[in-house]
Amino acid sequence: MMADTERAISLIRKSNRIVALSGAGISTEAGIPDFRGPGGMWENNDLLQQLSASGFSRNPEGFYRASLELFSTISRAEPTLAHRLLVRLEQIGKLDAVVTQNIDGLHHAAGSTKVYEVHGTFRTGHCTKCGTGCEMASYYSEIESGRLRVPLCSECAVPIKPDVVLFEELLPVDAWQGAVEAAENCDLMLVFGSSLVVYPAAELPMIALSKGASLVIVNLESTPYDSAATVAIRAKLGEFAKSALAAFL
Ligand code: NAD
Repeated sequence: MMADTERAISLIRKSNRIVALSGAGISTEAGIPDFRGPGGMWENNDLLQQLSASGFSRNPEGFYRASLELFSTISRAEPTLAHRLLVRLEQIGKLDAVVTQNIDGLHHAAGSTKVYEVHGTFRTGHCTKCGTGCEMASYYSEIESGRLRVPLCSECAVPIKPDVVLFEELLPVDAWQGAVEAAENCDLMLVFGSSLVVYPAAELPMIALSKGASLVIVNLESTPYDSAATVAIRAKLGEFAKSALAAFL
């Protein structure tokens, strides 16, 4: 085992109020691409426009067409070893909460019970007029089969919007406050698969460090926090999670 992985495991052993912050990199091994890689969404301006709040209001049909592929990928995905590691750490009383930038619902699917989804989720949606909530899966399968173009509220007949935070939108207040409190109270923050450049989520490691917590980062690329981290590991999460799961079985 790499020395850095051993150091990270020993920090986990000593900690009892762990908070994990996950980004798109925790789900790439589940087959959901991140956005920053070559050919990723950040290079496609039309797609970014369609998936913005103004794009949704102007053209909900275009939004649903543009998000269909991402939704199908997400709904087929299964949690990874790293998702399972976080469930295990919660089960043995070490982990207080998961804060995720992801919209794929895989932490819930793995069995984590305290998850702050600071960028929302694709799994549920709500009526843009009366706010009534719903599951998105059956709507997307009707769109996929060509029977539906835009899901409408049965009461108000206005478009239903998935509960994802779109470009130009604010973060959900409750999830964000929960995430900040979790960061303030943790003794170790584990950052899994985040470039730590998307704000305000990238403020959370700074909050944890300022309260005296240790910081472990596992990411394929370097991040702006690597030099401040207690341990920064440049590796695939699947490899790290395999070693860590073996240590906490
Ligand atoms: P990001 O800023 O969270 O960056 C992802 C990081 O993960 C990259 O630095 C990459 O090097 C790293 N990574 C990729 N695969 C890895 C692996 N197997 N092991 C370790 N590290 C790995 O995410 P982004 O792609 O820039 O996306 C920005 C935002 O878009 C996210 O914060 C999220 O809200 C959303 N998004 C969500 C999903 C999802 O729900 N699964 C997918 C793509 C994007």
